[in-house]
Amino acid sequence: MRVVESRREVAEWVAERRAAGDRVAFVPTMGSLHEGHASLFEVARRNADWVVGSIFVNPLQFGPTEDFERYPRDLEGDGKIAREAGVELVFAPSVDEMYPAGEQWIYVVPESGVDALCGRSRPGHFRGVLTVVAKLFGIVRPDVAVFGRKDYQQLVLIRRMVDDLELGIEIVGAPTIRDRDGLAVSSRNAYLSAEERRRALGISAVLRACQELYASGERDGLRLRDRMLEVRAAGVEVEYAEVVDPSTLASLSTVTDGAVCAIAAQVGRTRLIDNLVLGG
Ligand code: AMP
Repeated sequence: MRVVESRREVAEWVAERRAAGDRVAFVPTMGSLHEGHASLFEVARRNADWVVGSIFVNPLQFGPTEDFERYPRDLEGDGKIAREAGVELVFAPSVDEMYPAGEQWIYVVPESGVDALCGRSRPGHFRGVLTVVAKLFGIVRPDVAVFGRKDYQQLVLIRRMVDDLELGIEIVGAPTIRDRDGLAVSSRNAYLSAEERRRALGISAVLRACQELYASGERDGLRLRDRMLEVRAAGVEVEYAEVVDPSTLASLSTVTDGAVCAIAAQVGRTRLIDNLVLGG
């Protein structure tokens, strides 16, 4: 496995393989890699001949009061996980390498799909995400890119960006990996104390409860939402809990298969998100 920092090196590496007729898959990450990322690398492997991962904590997608500075960074541990997952090339640029001109003139700003879920409380977040993903796509130029459904709104917006801007990259969504206790694996779980982690389990528990309610015939979006809000009893501060349409992210009053129960909550100082596709 090679680790490169320069845009030119990664571009040449990928271009060589694609010129030879091989397929290249790309998995962008912010590092602090865990089983969730490893599963994306495996999905990438099944979709291509070569797997490229990137590790970049993108300042543009963090708000001024968010955790950019303290976001966990562990390039050594990341190298081990990526190597074990069979990644052939890791692109780990510096901020200057990614933003050589300093301030961008041009950003990718979503006009729709951001007045829902995380977009409401994180102004500018998806502008930062889409801009860096577009730049990474432009540098790496993969055939296919893999994203986790854990960040559901992000996946929907990236699909729309690729369609609306005709970027010609296949987007694959991968299932959420959970710890044995049900907690969705996340780099931010490292912030949780043992006691906070116990409280955080309430989040996946209410999602499972919604799945059961749905299986037993519940189709009222508001009643499912109320069930999600019961997580408050576990000592979790809910930012949003919604049942949304899987492609428009609009809140649903009547739900059908494929609808997404999505929740964001604060546990202590840590913001966690999770979701579950009903009937799936
Ligand atoms: P991040 O490093 O948190 O920006 O995430 C990089 C990619 O990994 C994104 O596509 C995430 O959706 C995905 N991801 C993060 N956590 C998980 C998880 N528990 N299961 C599956 N994918 C995940």
